[in-house]
Amino acid sequence: MSETQEHAAGDSVPELKQRVRELEDMLHAFRLRLPNAPAEAMRELAESEERFALAVRGTNDGIWDWDIRTGKVFFSPPWKSMIGYADDEIENAFSTFEKLLHPEDHDRVMAALNDYLAGRTPRYAVEFRFRHKDGSWRWILARGRALRDEHGTPYRMAGSHTDVTERKHDEEELRKARQAAESANSAKSVFLANMSHEIRTPMNGVIGMSELLLGTELNETQREYLEMLKLSADSLLELLNDILDFSKIEAGRMELDAHEFDLNEVVTEIAQAMGIRAFQKHLVLQHHISPEVPTRLIGDDGRLRQILVNLIGNAIKFTHQGSVTIEVTLESTTADLVTLHFKINDTGIGIANDMQDSIFEAFTQAESSTSRRYGGTGLGLAICHDLVALMQGRIWVESQAGKGSTFHFTAAFGRTSGISIKPKSPRIKPVVTAHSSMKVLIVEDGHVNQLVGARMLEKRGHVVTLAANGRQAIEYCGKDAFDAILMDVHMPGINGYEATAKIRQIEQTSGSHVPIIAMTANAMKGDRERCIAAGMDDYISKPLRSAELFQVVEQFARRPALPEAAPAFVDSAPPPPRPQVEPPPFDLAEFRESTGDEKLMRKLVAIFTEDSQKYLRKAEKALAVSKATPLYEAAHSLKGMLGVYSSKQALKLCTELCEYAHAGDLKGAQIMLDQLKKECSLLGDALNASFGPGT
Ligand code: ADP
Repeated sequence: MSETQEHAAGDSVPELKQRVRELEDMLHAFRLRLPNAPAEAMRELAESEERFALAVRGTNDGIWDWDIRTGKVFFSPPWKSMIGYADDEIENAFSTFEKLLHPEDHDRVMAALNDYLAGRTPRYAVEFRFRHKDGSWRWILARGRALRDEHGTPYRMAGSHTDVTERKHDEEELRKARQAAESANSAKSVFLANMSHEIRTPMNGVIGMSELLLGTELNETQREYLEMLKLSADSLLELLNDILDFSKIEAGRMELDAHEFDLNEVVTEIAQAMGIRAFQKHLVLQHHISPEVPTRLIGDDGRLRQILVNLIGNAIKFTHQGSVTIEVTLESTTADLVTLHFKINDTGIGIANDMQDSIFEAFTQAESSTSRRYGGTGLGLAICHDLVALMQGRIWVESQAGKGSTFHFTAAFGRTSGISIKPKSPRIKPVVTAHSSMKVLIVEDGHVNQLVGARMLEKRGHVVTLAANGRQAIEYCGKDAFDAILMDVHMPGINGYEATAKIRQIEQTSGSHVPIIAMTANAMKGDRERCIAAGMDDYISKPLRSAELFQVVEQFARRPALPEAAPAFVDSAPPPPRPQVEPPPFDLAEFRESTGDEKLMRKLVAIFTEDSQKYLRKAEKALAVSKATPLYEAAHSLKGMLGVYSSKQALKLCTELCEYAHAGDLKGAQIMLDQLKKECSLLGDALNASFGPGT
């Protein structure tokens, strides 16, 4: 390639140039002494000039030598032939140089020259376009040095011209190629983002319908098949979300949505939710936030959750025994920023040294068999890496194959002003157990989506009216008062934004305000803001999930509560045990909500007694020999397990037991353990009564 050739040839050029400069200086020194130079000096001079001429001929460069005082310039023949002129075709004057300069480059070159002559820059080297005799433009690299008198005033300057047109051309080609590649890559990301978003829309139908079907009478086999279908659909959606996120980041469309949140809440909720998975694998999941960490922060808690869920999910996935620990410490603080350090440690399979950097790249898994054995796409850590960067932090891993891994990341958050702003309602909370029946208008043009939304809400006891387009929505709103409107954003004819604007306009005369919730499969940045700006009150993304749908809709409930209607997906499940005086040992609705499926719940109930007994016995043994550490360990494991069953009372007792054990107060611990044993047995009975064999 020409570039490498040029490179190789270029190696000798600087040396040559350097030599030319030295000779020039010498020459000049001789000339100054010329009038009374002895014969010896004259000979030296002649030799030197000869060498100079040789050196000049040895390069393809043109030489110029400018007498600043007279304005005369010597241009060597190669200087002239470089731009197509014979030796006598061109005047030896500075004005020749100026005339041949490209008009757009003229001022820049003169400025560079003046800066050098005035001593403001140490070197004169500049590239410009120079007119060839044939009218074309050549790219020239000019370099030169000035000679100065004893006051530093330059009186002479000489240097070289090198034709760099080819290199410039190559550079330009390279730049174009890079630009083309970049825009192709960004087009790919936009395409991926759009495609995954398009696929999410029909997924709405698949997931919604299977949720609805699961809520009907089914025999064992049908339920099992359907649960598998739902599981596949859920993981497909997860994959789509990953691709969507990743391509959004790649296309530069990912932005953080910062607001005030409570770190404690975030970590606890995640630990609780992920606790189920850990518990199923008999792993201990612990979390600890250092006391010096301020917990009210400003940042994107949704994206923080995403990172944590990813890392904790991996830790659980790749650990077969032992524990997973989440730790948050304070890294540094400034006047308005808090940087936190998160550590997710596991005792799992670990990661080989040579893979520890590349796992943060997209589609990389530590070993080729991972995908078959553990599933996954290799996108999770790449997304975490980019999200962490958006949070001005970094992510890294320390790991030893076979011994476990610790993933670290830092992230910066804003400090709160001290006056606590009311936090934004968290997106998914356990579904409220008692809710009022609401009149809900669903505006949606897709039949499947209409059906999914309507059936979910109806099963929940709400009254639903359907409108197929924006025009109908406006019409129905005029006739009836709704408690909430679910408004599809993209509809043919009058779209969701326009319909909302019209409804809000009509409301100006009546003074009323109906909550409007935007429904969209768009997960692109700025959608939420667009919806709110259009006068909507909240936002829900498709595919609709019952828990999220209820949460978003029911926040606008006004009427007094009706008796509890069964959640959509548990038609055939027994009613929760109605408490007499004592609160129930566990919260059935919450248990159901956090577990998410009937089969898993039954499994959890089936193992409750044996597992809880195991820990209680361990605790008892430890107490009998007055050993606080194993007592604490047993209590702690039990606590992790109890969290899964939504049993407030048992969890509270167990937490206290942990505290007594930790403090070494064995007397207190004994009292707690006795109470806890009773509570666990009540809990076991209650669970069996709701789920046991025969129900
Ligand atoms: P995946 O969807 O495959 O889990 P990730 O990007 O989340 O994608 O992880 C990439 C790879 O890094 C995993 O496939 C696994 O090989 C390795 N890895 C990530 N977390 C852990 C961990 N806690 N222990 C061992 N290996 C891990």
